[in-house]
Amino acid sequence: MGFKPHGKHLINGEWIGTEESFKSSPASGEAHSFSVGSVELVDQACQAAEEAFWTYGYSSRESRAAFLNAIADEIEARGDILTEIGSQETGLPEARLQGERGRTTGQLRFFAQHILKGDYLDRRHDEALPDRAPLPRPDLKMVQRPIGPVGVFGASNFPLAFSTAGGDTASALAAGCPVVVRGHSAHPGTGEVVTEAINAAIKSCKLHPGVFSLIQGGPREVGAAIVQHPLINAVGFTGSLAGGRALFDLCAQRPKPIPFFGELGSINPMFMLPEAIKARGEDIAKGWAGSLVMGAGQFCTNPGIGVILEEQADAVMSALKEALAGVGAQVMLTQGIATSYQKGVEGIEATAGVHALVSTDSSGREACPNLFKVSSSEFLKNHNLSEEVFGPVGLLITVKSVDEMIDLAKGFEGQLTATIHMDAGDTDLAKRLTPVLERKAGRLLVNGFPTGVEVCDTMVHGGPYPASTNFGATSVGSMAIRRFLRPVCYQAFPDAVLPADLQG
Ligand code: NAP
Repeated sequence: MGFKPHGKHLINGEWIGTEESFKSSPASGEAHSFSVGSVELVDQACQAAEEAFWTYGYSSRESRAAFLNAIADEIEARGDILTEIGSQETGLPEARLQGERGRTTGQLRFFAQHILKGDYLDRRHDEALPDRAPLPRPDLKMVQRPIGPVGVFGASNFPLAFSTAGGDTASALAAGCPVVVRGHSAHPGTGEVVTEAINAAIKSCKLHPGVFSLIQGGPREVGAAIVQHPLINAVGFTGSLAGGRALFDLCAQRPKPIPFFGELGSINPMFMLPEAIKARGEDIAKGWAGSLVMGAGQFCTNPGIGVILEEQADAVMSALKEALAGVGAQVMLTQGIATSYQKGVEGIEATAGVHALVSTDSSGREACPNLFKVSSSEFLKNHNLSEEVFGPVGLLITVKSVDEMIDLAKGFEGQLTATIHMDAGDTDLAKRLTPVLERKAGRLLVNGFPTGVEVCDTMVHGGPYPASTNFGATSVGSMAIRRFLRPVCYQAFPDAVLPADLQG
């Protein structure tokens, strides 16, 4: 016990301290000092990343897989310190941090395996047709190549799995792209320990030190400088709609615009179909309550909305109220997130047509669950009800008919997930809903709850705006690597000059 971070940035293999510092705001334990980032440090990190790309971007898949596995080993070796500092900084329970660590190292090993298989390269070959008339065809080959240095913003709600060595970093490094991370100020000590692990892996694998740099929190110019730096080719981000949109706009306004892969969250509607509610309304309600309050509701896949026929609402309300009444106050990740939650709940409660089913007062850095009810017509009139309120708050939307349920589905904005609770007797309605929901969400579920995102080949953690800024991409699962690749076609190239992955 008693780990004390040194509070420095890692730039091109050097731990650099700056005179100006900020204090962490841990949920428990001692606050620590961390060096403030600067635009100059961003430039140094990006220059080093570009230099590193000339070797790392052309390295073998085997060596990158070994690097990813080495990072996972180094993180595991620091497991106890990570749990200690992580739970102090974020207030997340130790068991959750241990689980998240396993997910983070599992993700790194998963990408190592993925690149070794080589399918992601999407290699294609159109053989030469020298005798084709009227024109011969040259030999054409295609492969996916890494795009160069990438900027990554750590997320507040997953200090390990979506932060310093999280999915964005793992998929970029797997692709062959050096990474410059802007550490999240909610967990700078956790970020520092993970960076120590990455740095140790860089050394043991004898890679260019510019492959990874961490710039700790600081003024907003630091994040802006990363996305605007001419040597950065794409950005991975998980966070708020306001922050993500501001950074997305900066990417688009650059002289050379670059893609911004922002995962900005959603309200994840669940449609509770009539036969399912008749058969097991109470169980669905209890499951919803459990998913809603898990981790104080601080998941981007938190199911914030339940849609039900008005005549069936009573079948779930008492079970929901009972399940939520037993949940006490939970510590939130940051004071800012707790304050936004409290304001967000007040905003819902003050909206015309909204009725409180469970109304609690949260104070300080804590959140208690809240549940409200509103009709479909009032929901569609009040846009604020479509906005994510990060935390354990649910909204039950009542519809008068199944047709109104379909119309409501059409009115939703882009989502990460949409869920249908159904029984066999609901099949026709589910068949009408699915084509609508496909246009709204990246992942559709039947009879489940969206919290818990599997890291696998089929996962899509993304969706139409505002769920993400890039609907063709996912930030979880093996397809996440596609964000950091670019197809290149080689026409009439001799074998010896082709990239190694195309030779032979
Ligand atoms: P955030 O405010 O969007 O911040 C994320 C990161 O981006 C931070 O490092 C932040 O820097 C930086 N940033 C934000 N706006 C910027 C700007 N205009 N220019 C440069 N850098 C900028 O998200 P957060 O701090 O993680 O949480 C705040 C809210 O985001 C939550 O209440 C919740 O609504 C939402 N959220 C959503 C998800 C999700 O999964 N979709 C996850 C976490 C949070 P600073 O550290 O300096 O602020």
